[in-house]
Amino acid sequence: MGWFIVDGHEDVAMTLLQDEGRDFGAPAPTGRGLSLPDARRGGLGVILATIFAPEGYWHGRSAMAAAREQFRLYEDLLDKHEEHLFRVESRGDLALCRAGGPIGIVHLVEGADPIASPDVLDWWVDQGGRVVGLAWNTPNRYSGGTNDDRGLSAEGRELLEAMHEHGVLCDVSHLNRRAVDDVLLAAQGPVVASHSNAHAVYPHRRNLVDEHVRAIADRNGLVCVMLHDDHLRDGRAGIDDVARHIDHFVSVAGPEHVGIGSDIDGGFGTDRVPSGIDSIADLGKIGETLLARGYAEKDAHAILGGNWMRVLREALPA
Ligand SMILES: [Zn+2]
Repeated sequence: MGWFIVDGHEDVAMTLLQDEGRDFGAPAPTGRGLSLPDARRGGLGVILATIFAPEGYWHGRSAMAAAREQFRLYEDLLDKHEEHLFRVESRGDLALCRAGGPIGIVHLVEGADPIASPDVLDWWVDQGGRVVGLAWNTPNRYSGGTNDDRGLSAEGRELLEAMHEHGVLCDVSHLNRRAVDDVLLAAQGPVVASHSNAHAVYPHRRNLVDEHVRAIADRNGLVCVMLHDDHLRDGRAGIDDVARHIDHFVSVAGPEHVGIGSDIDGGFGTDRVPSGIDSIADLGKIGETLLARGYAEKDAHAILGGNWMRVLREALPA
């Protein structure tokens, strides 16, 4: 079956910067799973490619310096591979993403540390930022993150408002429970979880509780399963474990509010990705597994890409 896949979370810039000299146009090195040949072979239509720049994370550099370096890398990548990759900034750009066509890159800012204040969000929008997660594992001026229990700050609420004005989607993956509660109360637009699994299936701190899954679906948003063993089960995971998380999300949110955000190469090797998935070229196997479990074809296609297309179409400017 040919799939048109939207991967809601890939740390393309970070992973390429980590391995000096790594060429996105060449097959991924052993143990890694992100490359342009794999993306093309796997039927990827759109990639949400991150700017991952928590303060001090990257060789102690400032969040802004790290973010600029990643934007620069994407610029080079888009130049070098202009035949196969292009930046999606509008609904019109999104309409050009089709099976076998060039792959659309939508920028997702994972953790708003480098966004100095809500007033400068327009600069980020000009650079192509279309999705922002307020915090990563560590808290910042806007919100608590995964590893603490702080909620949203006053500045976080202002940033949410600015995001709504600019049509920027809010990503709640990495926010702690209290912060997700706050976002769901304060945010006016749709909300997504770009890479988070189901807490009811495996109670990891990064996974989403049903109440949040339901609230995200109520706002016509999206919850996206990610492919790190540690967030899927105790021990080594397989594709069936990914499907169990999808089954649960579907039972709570309906098939139209579930997607994929693989996070492959997001700081872990393919030895921590469910067995059977060796690279992003294998994401279609998740669809095949859903079909084998009795999913309707239209639902499997929606989960693998159609739902992200809907959410992006509604959020992006004309
Ligand atoms: Zn992440």
